Amino acid sequence: MIYSATIQNKLDVFAIRKQFPVLNREVKGKPLVYFDNAATTQKPQSVMDVLVDYYSGYNANIHRGIHTLAEEATAAFELSRDAVQKFINAASREEIIFTKGTTESINLVAYSWGRQNIKAGDEIIISTMEHHSNIVPWQILCQEMDAVLKIIPVNDHGELLMEEFEQLLSAKTKLVSIVHVSNAMGVVNPVDKIIESAHKAGAVVLIDGAQSTVHLDIDVQEMDCDFFAFSAHKFYGPTGIGGLYGKKQLLESMPPFLSGGEMIKEVSFDGTTYADLPYKFEAGTPNIADTIALKAAIDFINQIGKENIRRHENELLAHATAQLREIEGLKIIGDAQNKISVVSFVVDKVHPQDLGILLDNAGIAVRTGHHCTQPLMQRFRIPGTVRASFAVYNTKEEIDVMVTSLRKAIKMLL
Ligand code: PLP
Repeated sequence: MIYSATIQNKLDVFAIRKQFPVLNREVKGKPLVYFDNAATTQKPQSVMDVLVDYYSGYNANIHRGIHTLAEEATAAFELSRDAVQKFINAASREEIIFTKGTTESINLVAYSWGRQNIKAGDEIIISTMEHHSNIVPWQILCQEMDAVLKIIPVNDHGELLMEEFEQLLSAKTKLVSIVHVSNAMGVVNPVDKIIESAHKAGAVVLIDGAQSTVHLDIDVQEMDCDFFAFSAHKFYGPTGIGGLYGKKQLLESMPPFLSGGEMIKEVSFDGTTYADLPYKFEAGTPNIADTIALKAAIDFINQIGKENIRRHENELLAHATAQLREIEGLKIIGDAQNKISVVSFVVDKVHPQDLGILLDNAGIAVRTGHHCTQPLMQRFRIPGTVRASFAVYNTKEEIDVMVTSLRKAIKMLL
């Protein structure tokens, strides 16, 4: 281990920061403060080293080669699958499908499971706070199948209205697809309750874990979700790699999504038989390097411990929330009880984008806009928010820098 993860149970943030070279850079002549972690986290050196090691040491296509390089690459690739299985506590490695990320995972379910199981008049339930990637695939599916998309509303705190959810459920409900942690507000949804109720109604449940996988302990067996989608770049891993967990029985019953090489047992002009799980869903040459590096990201998190990460991030969130609440005219969007790592806000008479530009001039990277959650923005009747989202390497001092710069920016703009 290159850094000491904890000092008397307190996170050694400065040792962790040393693992992230980009944090040493300046932006516009100021030290970078990176608060756009919900969009993508920065990568530790250990993840980048794996990419260089792979390309400089054992780059080869996987699964079919019998030469040494192919065997080394295949072994490393499959070790990542084992790491993901453990990370989210899936019952078997066959239940882990590698995809480009959350978006592709949701599309896989919509196209494969959806087109096999959704019929005219069936209902799919999502919520107002979904990311567009958990809206549009279901809209397309519903249009194609003449099915109905139902929406769980949220209250003024950004919490799901659970009573309304219960009322939406019926024998017609075939799927409930819900975000675990809102990327726009940081609100944590009661997925256990949602899954229990949806199952009672006979529906299948997909959990969008894009934001939760990095912060919460994920146990897909305990949660009892049917599908769980995630992206490695949200948890210190590379872009372009993520996955779909699916219960084995469901995955086995589903037709392939993409087809071609790798996903077959035998091909002839009389017909084709498909490979066993998980390969049935992994057509073509996969993203080998980034899949191997995904394991390094999981190792990075495990070495620090999710509980330690969470404690630190909760302290950052509490500190930021308290500081921001002091600013006149500032309103936090999504002030629910159960939140994690994201603070989203608007300021009276100031456009979020203007604030984003002025913060960038101070070296501070925040996200402004609709965060790919336009229906949620419509619900709150706002064009967008300023969103600061925290990771294990952020500090309270950085939050103080942001708050000071924000106060200056607001003064300038009013
Ligand atoms: N769902 C949520 C809640 C997200 O935050 C994101 C990305 O921001 C996605 C889905 C889509 O993830 P990706 O772009 O990695 O496929």
